[in-house]
Amino acid sequence: MIADAHLDLGLDLVNCHRKGQHHVLKEYYMPRWQAQGVGLIVAAIYLSTEQSDEAYRQAAWAQIDALEQELRDTEGVVLCANGSQLEKARREGKTALILSLEGAEPIGEDPGMLDEFYARGVRLLGICWSRENKAGFGGRYDPNGETDLFGLKPMGKELVRRAGKLGVLVDVSHLNEGGCRDVEQLSELPFFASHSNTRALRPMDRNLSDDTIDAIAASGGMIGINGYSGLVAATPETATIAALADHADYIRNRVEASCIGLGLDLMERISGGDDTFTYCGVTVNALDILHDHSAVPAFLAELEKRGYNKQERDGIAGENWFTFFKKWLK
Ligand SMILES: [Zn+2]
Repeated sequence: MIADAHLDLGLDLVNCHRKGQHHVLKEYYMPRWQAQGVGLIVAAIYLSTEQSDEAYRQAAWAQIDALEQELRDTEGVVLCANGSQLEKARREGKTALILSLEGAEPIGEDPGMLDEFYARGVRLLGICWSRENKAGFGGRYDPNGETDLFGLKPMGKELVRRAGKLGVLVDVSHLNEGGCRDVEQLSELPFFASHSNTRALRPMDRNLSDDTIDAIAASGGMIGINGYSGLVAATPETATIAALADHADYIRNRVEASCIGLGLDLMERISGGDDTFTYCGVTVNALDILHDHSAVPAFLAELEKRGYNKQERDGIAGENWFTFFKKWLK
């Protein structure tokens, strides 16, 4: 089974609907997921443009609405909110979706909004995307460490506590270093990085420091390695499957393979084929090393060549995420 802890599905569906394309889950994603053995997808609610709190909120609701609308006419895929629903989906051969809010912008200054997102099915919370918001500071797409010393703002700390009470797991991908230290201190539940690589191999604030890798593992959390070339290597030529496997090796050597999963962050479909993106003034190459989930076996073959046993490979492909979410989503 393949599990992928980061796909900007909400954004893709809203974009498609705007263009008059409907049944995207049914006609595009499901045939592929079923053929490729994709059993679990974390569907992110990613909000790209800076707007008012209320505008962010409306945009987030619109993504959830779009997903719900698509789910109504699609068989074989189901939104899951807890471990028993995940298990049921798997038993029935369905692809499970878990909803994640990628950045607390729609929550604004009202922590109670987290409860409303919870009521709509959100079970994972990234406090910050790679920018400052009312909860904290994001890790930028460059290696300058500019905001690393800043911790979470009071609103961010309140959200970590509230998430713990609700049973929402905190995602530190995109969070700056100081924020990660605060999550480490405050989180009663394991926390995770859905789609990040290692700063050691690709120095960039957006990737994980050794301290954060250690803290995630110590909390019982997980790291989804990101197939987005800009986070893997400095140039498109060096961003290869082997370079992606190097990040897995680094985490495996530092902590253990059972902490590793996939967070592929597939971009090419969503970006419409543009091969560069500018985030926060920094232009990064936006190529997917694995073009879609059908390329996962090639990545697993690279791991096999490097001596990963079957249990480790199956774990990284999907079992580790499945076990983690099944255990901690109540
Ligand atoms: Zn992201």
